Order: sequence, then structure tokens, then C-alpha cells
Amino acid sequence: MIQLPLSKLSNVGTTIFSQMTQLANENEAINLSQGFPDFMPDPELLDHVDYFIKKGFNQYAPMGGMITLKEEIARKIENSHQAIYHPDSEITVTAGGTQAIFTAVATFVKKDDEVIIFEPAYDCYEPTVELFGGVVKRFEMKAPDYAIDWTAVRNLVSDKTKMIILNNPNNPSGKILTAQDIQELIAIVKGTSILILSDEVYENIVFDGKQHLSLAKYPELKERTLLVASFGKLFHVTGWKIGYCAAPKALTDEFRKIHQFNVFSVNTPIQLALAAYMKNEAHYNNLGQFFQEKRDFLRKGLAGTSFELLDCEGTYFQALKYDKISDKNDFDFASELTITHKVASVPFSSFYKNKRNDHVIRLCFAKKQETLEKAIENLSRL
Ligand code: GLN
Repeated sequence: MIQLPLSKLSNVGTTIFSQMTQLANENEAINLSQGFPDFMPDPELLDHVDYFIKKGFNQYAPMGGMITLKEEIARKIENSHQAIYHPDSEITVTAGGTQAIFTAVATFVKKDDEVIIFEPAYDCYEPTVELFGGVVKRFEMKAPDYAIDWTAVRNLVSDKTKMIILNNPNNPSGKILTAQDIQELIAIVKGTSILILSDEVYENIVFDGKQHLSLAKYPELKERTLLVASFGKLFHVTGWKIGYCAAPKALTDEFRKIHQFNVFSVNTPIQLALAAYMKNEAHYNNLGQFFQEKRDFLRKGLAGTSFELLDCEGTYFQALKYDKISDKNDFDFASELTITHKVASVPFSSFYKNKRNDHVIRLCFAKKQETLEKAIENLSRL
């Protein structure tokens, strides 16, 4: 037996999303843990895929992506955020948001570079930074309001800070950045060479007439920002693993040096199908309303229970505080909920390095009405 080399990520296990989905399946529980829709995407989109596959578009796409799709992405960003990206030299189609994030970190983070993240943080940020020798500095946002203390963030900045990673709207808290937050961020990075990785995969899922403020909107930030988005979230096709990174040419040139060696290019017929489908803006402009109805249905259904519903401004996740029900830690509580009450969730502690336990779990409401009804029924028995 050979001696295994030292693990490059010795503290990392299987992601909480895979773990909870597996536990849900084993226990035949309603899976509100991993964030994916349990309903079909629009048949029109599927027809486009069918068309392009059968028409023979089955070979490699150009490395940065199909031009028709990059043009549609540029148009969407311009219409939504009044920001101009050159389709060919500033937009790269990626195999999902996670690959875009991985590639962005791989491209820019070197040994001992510091990267600031905001917790609760999506689980891939920290291991990716560590893999490339970077050092994570974290600001903890806390229940119930997950506000950002920008003075504390400023104190994390040093001459080694290479990058700030933001997730807006935030998974799992559902918080969105305010105009004031963004002004604070602008003040912090002004005069520095700090890059920003802005994970905006839930950009179109914002509620109650609030506005998603993309960092691309602000010229002071756009010049240093790698903007990441995902078609999985936009069109209910998480399994297609396709997204993109938009960034100024100089950043994109470097990004593609790495991109070409970790995926080369992304699946051709789906890119063409997405481009055709995106011509009609109605296909993505009403997503907030669509998910707001689901959020409101879930919130109304749980209003009479002992769960405390935290604010949900965006994303398709609802945070629930359960301290009136149990004093178990959130991982044990979420496991018990899955096994005994047949509803799977994600414990918030998984999004904190120190496993911070505020007695909060996350439910995904990107589900059919009947799925939500069943989950509400089960959770109402607690
Ligand atoms: N983004 C999804 C979530 O937050 C999960 C993606 C994954 O399983 N890696 O649940």
C-alpha cells in the first residue's frame, strides 16, 4: 500500500448540500436542503436545446463561449445594470458559477495573499482560496439581521489583501446589499489594487420591489470586479452547470489563461439554446415575482408555527430560527428534522468556519406548490 500524499484540503469533507440531499433520500424526506428547483424548466428552452443538438452543433465551442450567447449576456447586463461589457473580450461562459469562482481565485490568488469573505459564506470560497495558498479573513454577519459592520471590514484590509468575495443576494441569509453598503465598499477599495469577486448568481431573485444593486453598476468597482452569474438559477436548470464571468478585458485575459486549461469550453448546443431563449427578456425579467409567490406561500404556511421567519429579501432560501422549538445545535436539529419530520434543510453553521450556531436553518422554496404544502404540513406538527 502506498503512503498517501498529504491532503491539500485536510479539513474539507463532502459538501453539506450533498450530505443533506443524501440524508433526505435515505429517509424519503422532502428535500428543501440543496438549492434546486423540483419543477421542469420552460419547454421552449428545452425545444431550443433539442433543435441545436439535432441540427449538429455538437462539437467544441470557442474557448470563451459562443458569441451569440455572450452578446445576449452583454445585453442583459447592460439593460439590468447599465454596464457595458464587450461580448467577445469581457465575457466568458463557464461550467456554472462554482467553476467561474474557482477559476477567478485560481487566476489571481497567490500564496499568502489575503482574501476577505463574508460569513455565512457559500461553501466553495474558503477551500478554493486555501488551495492556492491564500489566507481567508472573515467578517461574520450574524442572525437575525446579518448586517455588515464596514468598520470591522476595513480593519481586515491589509497590504496583503488581494481580493474581496461578496455574494449578493446572499446565500443563505437572503440579504441584499444596500446602496449604503456599496458606498462603504467603494470607500474601502479606493486607491488600492484589491479585486472583487462578486457572486451574483441570485441577481434576478429579489423581492418586495427592492432592487438588486450589481457591483457592475458602479464604475469605481466595475474596473476591479469579476462578476459571476448562473443560468442554473436563472432558468431552473441547475444540472446544466452553465454560467459566466464578466470582467474588464485585462482581468478576462488572465481569467481565460486558466479557464482554457480547466474546462477549455462549455457545452455548445446549450449555449446556443440559451442565446435563442434569452432574446425574449420576459424569460428572465419576472423571476423575482415568480419566486416571491413561493416565498410568501411558505412564509404564510409557517406563520403559525414556533419557527421564527427571518427576513428574506432575495435568493430562493428562507432562514428559520428554531430556538423556541429546540436547543440542539443546528446540524443535529436539521438531521432530526429530516429523519423524524421528513423535511430536509441546511444548517447555517455549515456556512461559518467556526460553526457558529445561531439556531438557524435554511429551507429552499424553489419547489412545486405541492412540495411546499407537504413541507408546511410536516413542519406545522413541531
Ligand atoms: N447552490 C446550491 C445551494 O446553495 C447548491 C449547489 C451544490 O450542491 N453545490 O444549495
